[in-house]
Amino acid sequence: MKALTLQEAGKFEYQLVSEPAPLQPHEALVKVHRIGICGTDYHAYRGRQPFFSYPRILGHELGVEVIETGTAVTNVKPGDRCAVEPYLHCGHCQSCRNGKTNCCENLQVLGVHTDGGMTEYLKLPAGKLYASARLNFEQLALVETLGIGCHAVNRSGITAADKVLVIGAGPIGLACLQFAKIKGAKVVMLDVNEARLNFASNTMQADATVVASDNSLEAIKAHLDGDMPTAIFDATGNPGSMMRTFEMAAFGGKIIFVGLFQGDMTFFDPLFHRRELTIFASRNALPEDFNNIIHWMEEGRIDTNAWITHRVAFADVADSFEHLLQSGHELVKAVITL
Ligand SMILES: [Zn+2]
Ligand SMILES: [Zn+2]
Repeated sequence: MKALTLQEAGKFEYQLVSEPAPLQPHEALVKVHRIGICGTDYHAYRGRQPFFSYPRILGHELGVEVIETGTAVTNVKPGDRCAVEPYLHCGHCQSCRNGKTNCCENLQVLGVHTDGGMTEYLKLPAGKLYASARLNFEQLALVETLGIGCHAVNRSGITAADKVLVIGAGPIGLACLQFAKIKGAKVVMLDVNEARLNFASNTMQADATVVASDNSLEAIKAHLDGDMPTAIFDATGNPGSMMRTFEMAAFGGKIIFVGLFQGDMTFFDPLFHRRELTIFASRNALPEDFNNIIHWMEEGRIDTNAWITHRVAFADVADSFEHLLQSGHELVKAVITL
């Protein structure tokens, strides 16, 4: 079968690889139909993904079809359309024992730490498959991206009374916006890019948008009845942006770091203490997030159609990846079809 391997930074190669080995009792064989491309993939291609090793088959945002199941599998059957939870947890570390499989100490993310979905067939633990009779493969491929925002919003514990600021209007920021709106909160989006902000307000339900400037906070407050944001989701992974959130959060407010960077973060302790801020890290998502998102998509409460701005045939990925990277703000989500 055909697979697309990222041999080294900047170099994709189509290869013929052997079909997956026979199934263990709890495994399923799936056919890959759609693959979402995300920041992690672009970083890996650029050689900027920390702790990344080559060669690697990318692809962790998957819409798949079950072909065959192991003898002990009961949650899915051949023919099912599924989303894939790509967080392969160990099941025995302290974090797993506490139900936090999203931050398993030995976590292997499919398509990042192990070979992923840019291939025709894939063998997976069946427990990582989430079936839906109503969603199509493209919708299912977006569940993982949405999960990042869903988990972050759940971590924050926000309610309809919160005044939320989301920084960064890429897919992860948009996912945070989506779930903050489901909670009923008022949401202002902040980004440097006006086109992205237009998407957030025209296509999504952002209550207001602010183009980042020296006066960002005043502009944000103007949209929040003069108040500071009670919860700030930072989806930029930009150290400067993340450190500035300490100045923007309301007294008693919360900061949720969804984006990340490799380095030290510093803040002025009185800013943190006088305001009695709460800081959260948010990493990946939990199984219940996948179930909830599929349910909301089936109900039509989440519509991701407009997110998919680019579609690429599997055979063209190697040649068009560089072009996708150059698409800039026109790109919200690219999906590979096969
Ligand atoms: Zn992703
Ligand atoms: Zn574990």
